[in-house]
Amino acid sequence: MELRGPVRVEEKLYTLRWKHDRTSHIAITDPRTCADRCGDEWRRPCTTFCPAKVYEWDPEQARIVVAYENCVECTTCLVGCPYRVIDWRPPRGGFGIQYRYG
Ligand code: SF4
Ligand code: SF4
Repeated sequence: MELRGPVRVEEKLYTLRWKHDRTSHIAITDPRTCADRCGDEWRRPCTTFCPAKVYEWDPEQARIVVAYENCVECTTCLVGCPYRVIDWRPPRGGFGIQYRYG
């Protein structure tokens, strides 16, 4: 029997399927907080706590870019933003992640 090491997050994400909505289920309610406060005080933790890399800091636009299509609905961002400026809601019915097993 082949023994395997721990399964990497990237491998697990590869087994998921999405049905994308055209509108985002995630909004940053106060982008200035991301630009003015969070960088210095917290190093923008959304760019690291999200397992699907939904949040990325864009220095040219001085804002967080949200790739909502990649969200795996783990709900971490409901508690992970120190300023609570992430408005995350479950995707509309029929959209979002479709989990498969195996
Ligand atoms: S953790 Fe919250 S405040 Fe900080 S950059 Fe991300 S969304 Fe903005
Ligand atoms: S719910 Fe999870 S996967 Fe989706 S944006 Fe928040 S942290 Fe990322």
